[in-house]
Amino acid sequence: MLINAVSKIFHVSCTEKHIFSVIVKSFSKQDRLFKNSRSMALNANDLKVEYKPLYKPPLQELADVLNQNLTYNFAEVHAEVVDCPDLRKEPFTLASEGLGGNPRVVEIGGVPYLAPIAQLNKVYDLKDIERFSGLKSAFIVGAGAGPHPYAGVNCEGIINMNVKDGKVEQQTRISKVVPSDGSQVQEILPNSETRIALLANLFYSEGKPGKVLKVHVKKRIGSDDFVTSIRETLAKRYFDDKIIGLGGTFLLKEGKAKQHVMPAFSKTPLNSGKDIDNWLKFYNMSAPLIAVGTLETGDPGLDLRVQHFHSFSHHGEAGHYHIDTTPETVEYLGFFNIGEYVYRVDAPAVSHSFGRD
Ligand SMILES: [Zn+2]
Repeated sequence: MLINAVSKIFHVSCTEKHIFSVIVKSFSKQDRLFKNSRSMALNANDLKVEYKPLYKPPLQELADVLNQNLTYNFAEVHAEVVDCPDLRKEPFTLASEGLGGNPRVVEIGGVPYLAPIAQLNKVYDLKDIERFSGLKSAFIVGAGAGPHPYAGVNCEGIINMNVKDGKVEQQTRISKVVPSDGSQVQEILPNSETRIALLANLFYSEGKPGKVLKVHVKKRIGSDDFVTSIRETLAKRYFDDKIIGLGGTFLLKEGKAKQHVMPAFSKTPLNSGKDIDNWLKFYNMSAPLIAVGTLETGDPGLDLRVQHFHSFSHHGEAGHYHIDTTPETVEYLGFFNIGEYVYRVDAPAVSHSFGRD
């Protein structure tokens, strides 16, 4: 109708009418795609979901292993089993109180959906908790790619949210690069935005109080970051049919950390870890940083990314944790729980191993 009306006004020829019709159609197609991308998330029921049980030793055993062996990387190490402090309070300020109640590790997607070329249709709605974790209500913390359809650009997600009876309490932050000056900006998602993109490593529980593993260390004397040092130490003890998965939170209490934020999606293929590092934007971010994520001591055949933590702050800095840059003065305080299962959602059919640092 629009085309005919315009044709009458401008007395256009049949050929011109056809060209105009093509232009109008292509604009409305773009508009439709844009609108779809605003609401788009893959249907959880269409996604492949596998899960396996994880080994669950007593928390005290983990504390003993860490007290004995984490000293290779930190001058002061103190691990113990404690009642989880209320994580809603400072300094953690998370969406739920604890890490208890049906704890499980959930990995969604993977780096192969980011590189070589980002697959923009890989958008997942974390409200789909039952399909992704078997739980009816969940406190979800972890590291992933933020919802680019919401942000308008590729971004980091520092996931921290409750879903109970379909009701969402969202405390997730996203972090993105400002194209004009390369600076980094953090924002909090509204309750109405529960999507992530591409990949995520998450810890689900019912957010209940209970016993957790506390790990408090000071002064780094080795070359490993906090997460790697815990994972490597535990991996020497728990492997093969005794793989364990941990999730939770840690505070970079003192010092600074090297963290990256993903910029806009690369237009050229990223074919190696080096390509990814050259594309990422790195920052030296200051304590206090509140990190959330997961680690596993091995891979029970699910193509897992065995460690991944992102951190946010109350001073605007947020990103993907690599390592502290202040070994002399650094102090970490972590609270973790053991996952009883690992869930693997939409694992890439074609995989590769680079870009999992
Ligand atoms: Zn990350």
